[in-house]
Amino acid sequence: MKIGLMGGTFDPPHIGHLLIAEQAQEQLELDAVWFVPANVPPHKQRTVTDATKRLRLVEEAIALNPAFSVSAIEFEREEPSYTYDTIRALKHRYPEHEFLFLVGADSLVSLDTWYQAERLYEEVVFGAVARPGSRYLIPRGARVKAVDMPLLEISSTDIRQRVARGRSIRYLVPEAVRQRIEEWNLYAP
Ligand code: ATP
Ligand code: MG
Repeated sequence: MKIGLMGGTFDPPHIGHLLIAEQAQEQLELDAVWFVPANVPPHKQRTVTDATKRLRLVEEAIALNPAFSVSAIEFEREEPSYTYDTIRALKHRYPEHEFLFLVGADSLVSLDTWYQAERLYEEVVFGAVARPGSRYLIPRGARVKAVDMPLLEISSTDIRQRVARGRSIRYLVPEAVRQRIEEWNLYAP
């Protein structure tokens, strides 16, 4: 099977993430998309919502699409995993699958700063979408397939800020995610 990997912090997951997965699935002829939430150290930059909760939010965001699932592989170890290690581990675990790694343009332009970038380019082909505010630049050596998608000026950062200001996030995130954010009182000031 051909599997798209959708990596991210997903704090919270939003419709931009879902649209990338859907459009990539169609255009790159993927059999499935696996969402791979990152294990972010709690002391890093801002405080990231705990892993279990982000995992649950992703599960709820993708629940209605049988082609989407979530992999908790990056939570199997205490320390954050590099994409390079994750992809190697997945290829080792599922030698029968072919993996593509999906990214937005902001991730695409920074790929060459990622851990073991050169080797990462050898391990995996990327599917990349445009993103407002980011140039669409393909790092030298990376194999990138363009995925076309309407530009969406949506980010988890903006959603967290809206919640903190008491503004609506309805339709920016799946309804189940919106309700869970409310129930858990996430992103409140
Ligand atoms: P944050 O603002 O917290 O960084 P985010 O919205 O960028 O959140 P991430 O979890 O960081 O979401 O991103 C996961 C992946 O989704 C990245 O490859 C990112 O480029 C991509 N992505 C997220 N939102 C969009 C969007 N609106 N358009 C295109 N790509 C996006
Ligand atoms: Mg981001």
